[in-house]
Amino acid sequence: MDALPSSATSDAEETLDPSDWSDVRTLAHRMVDDSIGYLRDVRKRPVWQEMPDEVRTAFEEPLPRFPTPLNAVYCQVTENLMPYPMGNIHPRFWSWYMGSSNFTGALADFLAAVQGSNLGGGNHAAASMDNQVVNWCKEMMGFPPSASGTLVSGGSMANLIALIVARNVKAGVDVREDGVGAIEKPLRFYASDQVHSCHRKAMEALGLGNKALRRILTDAELRIDVTALRAAIAQDRAAGFQPACLIATAGTVNTGAIDGLEALANLAAEEALWLHVDGCIGALLAIAPANAYRVSGIARADSVALDPHKWLHAPFEVGCVLVRDSSAHRGAFAVSQEYLESTPRGLASAAWLHEYGLQTTRGFRALKVWMALKENGAEKFGRLIDQNIAQARYLTRLIEQEPLFELVAPTSINIVCFRYRPERLGKGALKALNIEIMLRLQEEGIAVLSDTTVHGEHCLRVAVNNHRTRREDLDMLVTETLRLGALLERQLGAI
Ligand SMILES: *Cc1c(COP(=O)(O)O)cnc(C)c1O
Repeated sequence: MDALPSSATSDAEETLDPSDWSDVRTLAHRMVDDSIGYLRDVRKRPVWQEMPDEVRTAFEEPLPRFPTPLNAVYCQVTENLMPYPMGNIHPRFWSWYMGSSNFTGALADFLAAVQGSNLGGGNHAAASMDNQVVNWCKEMMGFPPSASGTLVSGGSMANLIALIVARNVKAGVDVREDGVGAIEKPLRFYASDQVHSCHRKAMEALGLGNKALRRILTDAELRIDVTALRAAIAQDRAAGFQPACLIATAGTVNTGAIDGLEALANLAAEEALWLHVDGCIGALLAIAPANAYRVSGIARADSVALDPHKWLHAPFEVGCVLVRDSSAHRGAFAVSQEYLESTPRGLASAAWLHEYGLQTTRGFRALKVWMALKENGAEKFGRLIDQNIAQARYLTRLIEQEPLFELVAPTSINIVCFRYRPERLGKGALKALNIEIMLRLQEEGIAVLSDTTVHGEHCLRVAVNNHRTRREDLDMLVTETLRLGALLERQLGAI
């Protein structure tokens, strides 16, 4: 018999572990110290700043083929990356719609990566924690323990997962086996004209096409017009379509409007439609004592999408989808694979979590939600939601009191739509002026807002989804907007 090769004589084997853990310890401690300073002083820095050319070109360097000491690598991060963030952790970031993160969540993401588990499933503590966080989401939404759910990358994926289940349940054929071509009557989904764009992408990915999602007109409060919705459903039935699913929005991205969930739940029951609630913004109102009434009825939905990286301020990414009928949920995704068979004991003896969505390998997203919920308690998160809504109301009052401002949509929860409106300006000039104000606010590092168009009117949009915002920040926004408005009016006099 040939002698086995001796491990002692083989070439030195490599690893990614450091050769000297004590050096790494010192550097890692410095990273933590720097991070604490970074977050502590966030208010003193500009919300956003343009990258200088040297920084831009640093990101054009080709693939590094040989090593650089970690100290030097970290230096590049502190110089080129950390000073130029998107800005959403800053107290005066109110653009689009995102959360402002939290330090505990950041530590959790670090620990999750160190612990390293794959949340595709299995019998281990991270999987139990993932289940627990899904259970807590059910509890917050008033969903029954028998419901299922899964943590995903965000609201877009949460909505997609729910709409796949809805399609499969309502198709009347085995879509998984036979495809959408086998569906007898074309399916129709319904949402308001304020629906988030991820639903369009979902309809396209579902193979149903964008036109299968009917956008229903909204009322003056930007909520779906239920009478128009009823009429559309009747019209579709008469024309040979199969109405399948209502997508209610609890908190639209434009203005924060919340569709009438009780009325939609009644209608869905009458018409035998799947009721999905896109609660990426507003589902978590359910835990806010002063505002929970706004989403009453959410627990009647067949599925809900919520976004812990918005109003729970988890670091990106984490979204969650809940499905009342767990067998329909699993039935849409489970595939038995010979290499993933369960065993009676050991690591493969627990349910596979990848049977509730599209991913196989899943990151350990639960820990950042779990640690922050444990540390603060759900009630504090509820109070912070109420606080943002009170702040948005405060800003709304400041706007109403200022003759040079105009409120463009009613403030429902935490999104304020307004514009600077001096007399004499036509619509085009008004839009140009407001966009310029928005850009100057960004470029001067004062505040980051976005803009939108509501029922044909262009406006600036302030989404207060931020646990660091104080009323003084909103006072500053008003003062600075007025200053820039007056300045630009003079400079651009002729626009
Ligand atoms: C943010 C949002 C989404 C998309 O969620 P992501 O987490 O960005 O993927 C969907 N719907 C609404 C109403 C949203 O506000």
